[in-house]
Amino acid sequence: MRLVFLGPPGAGKGTQAKDVAQKLGVPHIATGDMFRAQVSGGTELGKRVKAIMDSGQLVPDELVLEVVEARLVEDDARQGFLLDGFPRTGPQAEGLDGILDKQGVSLDHVVYFDLTDEVVINRLSGRRSCPECGEPYHIEFKISKDSKTCDRCKGVDLIQREDDKPETVKSRLDVYKKQTAELIDYYESKGLLRRLAADGRVEEVRRGLFELLGIK
Ligand code: ADP
Ligand code: AMP
Repeated sequence: MRLVFLGPPGAGKGTQAKDVAQKLGVPHIATGDMFRAQVSGGTELGKRVKAIMDSGQLVPDELVLEVVEARLVEDDARQGFLLDGFPRTGPQAEGLDGILDKQGVSLDHVVYFDLTDEVVINRLSGRRSCPECGEPYHIEFKISKDSKTCDRCKGVDLIQREDDKPETVKSRLDVYKKQTAELIDYYESKGLLRRLAADGRVEEVRRGLFELLGIK
């Protein structure tokens, strides 16, 4: 299955993606995670994108498309994938269509995580993340076992991402509305959009998602 998870930052895409990808046996490809790995690895690409990411702006389309195309030709993505946080602009969506056309394949579903700004702000502001594996936690809704370190990466302290600080959260939502929200119509007109009520508890959203995708 070839899937896109679309929605504002903090909607819960990453939280749901791991399970879905595992159930479907496809790789979870999150462009934000890929760029963060470049930043923490201190690569040339990481140096180029760090300030952009910290400020909550978007990495330029050409750069994003280059990274995604290289990832989608890897063996494990040939039979399917779950894209999370990509595409985020009209040109990225068109670029993705071009990449898939070249491969002779197409998307099956674009799942739109539908929720209010208020819930998004609450989720983003309380998010804590593992700097090693990227696993998202929340100070209220998903607390790690000792409420300090990652449950998976023993001893690694959870951090607040630079772009989850209050001054950046608002601008990220603005960026989403100005540059990404238009993709809802784009995919609706292609008959690919599946709306998911995403403001419930993690298990409720998961149930809705599994039902929508026909996962047992
Ligand atoms: P995204 O990948 O869309 O940016 P995340 O999956 O990282 O969002 O979730 C953002 C924050 O909200 C995290 O702190 C996560 O633990 C929390 N969260 C995710 N889904 C829910 C939910 N259904 N209810 C409450 N909190 C949630
Ligand atoms: P995310 O983890 O999806 O919230 O992404 C974190 C940051 O990475 C974003 O605010 C952008 O700076 C950058 N980023 C991730 N994915 C994209 C994308 N598809 N297009 C542009 N920038 C992106």
